[in-house]
Amino acid sequence: MTLKDRLIERIARTGPMTVADYMTECLLHPEHGYYTTGDPLGGAGDFITAPEISQMFGELLGLWLAQVWMDQGAPSPFNLVELGPGRGTLMADALRATRTVPGLHGAMQLHLVEASPTLRAAQEGLLSDFAPHWHDSLATVPDGGPLFLVANEFFDALPIRQYQRGGADGWHERMIGADGENLIWGLSPPSTVAALSERLHNVSEGQIVELCPAGEAIAGEIGRRVAAFGGAALIIDYGDWTSIGDTFQAMASHAYADPLADPGGADLTAHVAFGALARAANPAVPSTLTPQGVFLERLGITPRAQTLLKGLSGPARDQLVAAHRRLTHPEEMGNLFKVLALMPPSAAPPPGLDPQGPAA
Ligand code: SAH
Repeated sequence: MTLKDRLIERIARTGPMTVADYMTECLLHPEHGYYTTGDPLGGAGDFITAPEISQMFGELLGLWLAQVWMDQGAPSPFNLVELGPGRGTLMADALRATRTVPGLHGAMQLHLVEASPTLRAAQEGLLSDFAPHWHDSLATVPDGGPLFLVANEFFDALPIRQYQRGGADGWHERMIGADGENLIWGLSPPSTVAALSERLHNVSEGQIVELCPAGEAIAGEIGRRVAAFGGAALIIDYGDWTSIGDTFQAMASHAYADPLADPGGADLTAHVAFGALARAANPAVPSTLTPQGVFLERLGITPRAQTLLKGLSGPARDQLVAAHRRLTHPEEMGNLFKVLALMPPSAAPPPGLDPQGPAA
């Protein structure tokens, strides 16, 4: 039985599903889930991520983490956490780039939060020298010490709920129902939604807004730990400060697809509303939300590329030039992707980012 058949059966039994329930089933179902059953990353997969485009990405993020760790007095021990490490490429590049930082690797305990058994195996292949611990969620990562955390393209995979503004103060939740053998969109009857009371003045009738309760809960947990015990979080993803409009999307074979067409067979994501994460992370302090291209330039991606180019010729050289452009150019990933740091209230400003975000 396919996941689509199972979902249609479930809807017949218990009624239409929220987008969040649908995303959770499609991405994480134990037998059919998109992340639980395969490796979606890379040229042959459904999409390619920054660390898979070039080693420069993970190297620069590793040096960022090392600098922030040193700025805070090189605490030992500390937890180094990656949320959704994919194939482990970012962390492997980060740890290679930081192996000469005195004391860093000895002080670090590596924790990987990963839902996919296939990707856990890939991570083990690249990172076994660092004795990582795997977790289903941040909750089981040991609490009470400094937390240095990185998450690239993790928050976009977390389940969202969508609401369409009705008349007066009501919101219709967007729901997924069934019509014969097809999954179809519908709307719940209007009701007030406390979490959206701030949006009533800037969202007009018929417009859609999104909430990511799972993302806010994780940001809250990160913020509590970073503010209490020191450390920093670096969150990179596509999105903006505020959510507006329908950003729910499916990706299969490097192209946009209908998110209801092939449950479990396509990646489902939504743009990240960084402002909501920043607010949830209080009392940790957010940086200014910064375009990825600007951030990587400030960290020195161009001199790094020039150094790597010296050893290259032919297609490898062209590939590196293209990778640099892809990561930084505003028409490629440079502007769509944003970077947000969450810092302890008293910490030095993090490299490459202005210290204080827009009023939260
Ligand atoms: N950071 C990697 C992979 C991004 S894809 C990169 O940049 O290449 C999203 C990653 O998050 C995958 O590793 C996926 O398995 C993981 N993931 C998605 N939802 C998750 C969840 N709810 N809990 C834990 N891991 C999750």
